[in-house]
Formats: sequence, structure tokens, C-alpha cells
Amino acid sequence: MQELTHWINGKHVKGTSGRFADVFNPATGEVQARVPLASKAELDAAVADAAKAQPKWGATNPQKRGRVMMALVGLINRDMDKLAEALSREHGKTIPDAKGDIQRGLEVIEFCIGAPQMLKGEFTDAAGPGIDMYSMRQPVGVAAGITPFNFPAMIPLWKMGPALACGNAFILKPSERDPSVPLMLAELCKEAGLPDGVLQVINGDKESVDAILDNPTIAAVGFVGSTPIAEYIYGRGCSNGKRVQCFGGAKNHMIIMPDADLDLAADALVGAGYGAAGERCMAISVAVPVGDKTADALIERLIPRIEKLKVGPYTAGNDVDYGPVVTAAAKANILKLVQSGVDQGAKLVVDGRNFNLQGYENGYFVGPHLFDHVTTDMDIYRKEIFGPVLSTVRAKTYEEALGYAMDHEYGNGTAIFTRDGDTARDFANRVNIGMIGINVPIPVPLAYHTFGGWKKSGFGDLNQHGPDAFRFYTRTKTITARWPSGIKEGSAFNFKAMD
Ligand code: NAD
Repeated sequence: MQELTHWINGKHVKGTSGRFADVFNPATGEVQARVPLASKAELDAAVADAAKAQPKWGATNPQKRGRVMMALVGLINRDMDKLAEALSREHGKTIPDAKGDIQRGLEVIEFCIGAPQMLKGEFTDAAGPGIDMYSMRQPVGVAAGITPFNFPAMIPLWKMGPALACGNAFILKPSERDPSVPLMLAELCKEAGLPDGVLQVINGDKESVDAILDNPTIAAVGFVGSTPIAEYIYGRGCSNGKRVQCFGGAKNHMIIMPDADLDLAADALVGAGYGAAGERCMAISVAVPVGDKTADALIERLIPRIEKLKVGPYTAGNDVDYGPVVTAAAKANILKLVQSGVDQGAKLVVDGRNFNLQGYENGYFVGPHLFDHVTTDMDIYRKEIFGPVLSTVRAKTYEEALGYAMDHEYGNGTAIFTRDGDTARDFANRVNIGMIGINVPIPVPLAYHTFGGWKKSGFGDLNQHGPDAFRFYTRTKTITARWPSGIKEGSAFNFKAMD
């Protein structure tokens, strides 16, 4: 069986803790590799080496760092097929979806080519007599990123790209469920010209995460994953004096107004609800049609579309709409929640519980489910299911629908489908959620904007990628300079306005 490694000082390095996790092929249920789980000592040693490598990289001019990013873009494109295959084999998503995962990460690396522009700083000439004032952005030093299983290329690239472009050393702790692609990306960073030691990929679980949170050399930590872990990391990281940003779970609502194009809305819901088996933090998991007439017409359109969905392994090529979920435990949890929905009185109008894929009986496939008449007290409404399950909550009015989205504890993304500009504008302005789609079901901002949820979906002040990432991975320093020709007085004892 393949034994995966860590990536330390520009080389693959075997784990020494003696602890491993199995890496499954979710389509077959087979263990295809084992990944080492780093000890605190391994993590601390990698951080110490990163801290030694960082000053030289931080002092490299930003255009040279931008050129490494440019080379990385070319290399990722060169290896797109290979990366996508490795990603699908461990995650289970289809090859086109795996390429989308890589592409949305790649776009952030493209943005990072502009590091010189992002890091230019500010200058005020003649702020006082003979006085100039300027601000510069300096790297924080060593930063770390802890990432989830569901986007094993995109989120590591969102984290490492801006951190490295800003001149930091970076410790990546990817998900132990699908660690191969992050290791392949590290190899490509070296080929692109990144100096050894500047990027360390440490595989592991809670032990290595806690070691990151407690290591005094690490100045900033970015996390993406489930909300309970996000809250834990935010609390422990902040109390250790680090800069921390954590992005958590989601329950994204899509409101369908009576004037919406219902065919467009149904198509959008099927893609956004079931794509990637619902394992996206921006998946739509709650449909909120306004009015019973809209709800009946929507359900009538959804059922045949959902029943036609093709579920299968990524090796079946373009014939598949979505693949298996990531683990047997994830599958069991989804089916348990579906059963709770039935027990608590929701109407299961598409029942995927008996889904079986011939030849893949040990794979973690889950058939698509659609619930109608879901109420806000049910577990399927309150909890993140992270599977191919769409819940319909019927609202009588727009205000009631808006209230559902606003009252839910999560606030990652939401969408409204309507032809009415006034309603769309009101929704975008009032809703307390981070990313809003207007007739767009999955409104993931592009690389040059920023990505982040509100409420229990995001902890910390700054978002991911875009200009916020350059703020997160740098510290501002402001210099006030006066040269002897500008000095007109002796000692000054009082603050006063500069004239
Ligand atoms: P997870 O929280 O189980 O794991 C995320 C990371 O935390 C992994 O690297 C894991 O090793 C580590 N981890 C797990 N348990 C830990 C513990 N007890 N202590 C310390 N570290 C621990 O999440 P996941 O299942 O990999 O990913 C799915 C979740 O991520 C979903 O909730 C999804 O909504 C969320 N997500 C959010 C966003 C966003 O931007 N808001 C994006 C993608 C995924």
C-alpha cells in the first residue's frame, strides 16, 4: 500500500510519529494509501526550519515572488489532468468538478502574480515641515493554514498563494482524507522556483493542529472546515496571541419568488443542491419558495430533474452528475439525518435511501433526496447535512422567506431568484449573510473579490483571497521621517498639529 509523506524543506519526508490514517477511494471503499499523522515534535521542527527560510524569501522583491506565482500557474495548467485524477480518486468528485476545484484555486494564484501592486504601501509627501510619512506591508513571518477535505486543491491554494506572495513561510496542514493533491502542489511550487523550507506540508490530525495553535513562531492561522472546529481554532489561536481567520459550515437558502423563471430556478437548484454530492460549503441545501402555487410548481419541476441524476464513480466520465460522499461515516450521518426528517414529519418526495450502484456496493454513494414541508425545528433544517439532500421550506411571503435566511445560525451564502429588481436589491441589502446570488445559485466571488461568511460561518475580521488576503498575511508599519534640513526646533513636549 502506498505510504504518503510530509513535504519538508523541499523533499518528501516519511512520518516518524508511528501514527497513520487510512486514505480511502470513496467509490470502492478500498483503502488506497495511508497518510502519516505528525507529532508535535515533527510540526515544531518543520516550523523552525520554515522560520529560518523565511527572511530571505521575505526580502526577495515582490516581482520575483510574483514570477514564482506565474510559473506555478503554468505548471498547474500543465498537470491539470494528473491533479484532477488524483483529486477525484481520493475525494470522489467527478473529473470536470475536480478540474473546477483546481481552476478556482489557480485563479487565486493568478491574482497573486500582482503581489507588487498589492504590497505597494502608501506615501504622504510633506506631511509636516520636511516630514514624509509612509506605510509598508511586511510579511507576518510564518503563517499556517488548516484545510478541509471538500476542496483539496482550491482551499490549499487560497491559503498558500497569498501567504507566500506576501513573503511569508507557510505551513499547510491539509485534510487527512485527501492529502495527495496538496503534496503534488508543493512539488509544483518547488519546480516553480519556491525556495526549500518556505512551504512545508505537514499531514496530521488534532495533534498537529494543536501544535500549530500553540507554536509561538506561527503568527497567523487560516482555517476552513466545520463550525465546531472553526470556533475551537479561533478561540485557542486568538488566546495564544495569533491572528486567526476561520471559515465554518453553512446552510444556504435559495428564495424563489412567484415571478421567478421556475425552469431556471429548478435547474439552478439541482446543480447547486446535488453537485459534488452536496459537499460544498456554498451548496444550496434549503429551497424557500414563496407561496404554495410557486412551491407546487417548483416541486413539480424538481422531481423529474432529480430522478434523472446520474450518480457514479468519476471513472465513468461525463455520464456522471455526482460521485460518492467522502467516507462511510459521512454516508451514515447523511442517512441518519434523512431518517430524522421522515420521523419528524417532513415529506420525502424523492427518496434516495435505497440507492445501490451495481459493482460499487462498498462505495459511499448516496442517492438524491428531496424533502417538502420542512419546518425550522427539524434537524434536517437546523444541521448542516453536507450530502445530496435538499429541504423545501414553504413561505407565505417574501418577508417570511427573508426571515428564514436571517434567523438561521449559519450565514455563508444565499440566493434569490426573481425578475423584480426592487426585491432583489432589498434582499441583498438586508440579509445578514456574506455572499449573495441574484439569479445565481452558488455566488462564489472571483479571486479579486473576497470570500467569507457571516454568523457561525466565519470568525475573524478579514475574508479569504482578494485584497483581504494580502491584509491578513501582512502587518502594516508606518514610518515618519524628517531629515536635518527640516528640523526647526529643539525638544518638543506637547502633541500638536503639524503645520
Ligand atoms: P473538519 O472540520 O472535520 O476538518 C477541517 C480540518 O480540521 C482538517 O484539516 C482536519 O484535520 C482538522 N480537524 C478535524 N477535527 C479536528 C479537531 N478536533 N481539532 C483540530 N483540528 C481538527 O471539516 P471537513 O469535514 O474536512 O470539511 C467540511 C466542512 O468544511 C463543512 O462544514 C463545510 O461547510 C466546511 N467548509 C467551509 C468553507 C467556507 O469557506 N466556509 C469551505 C469549505 C468547507
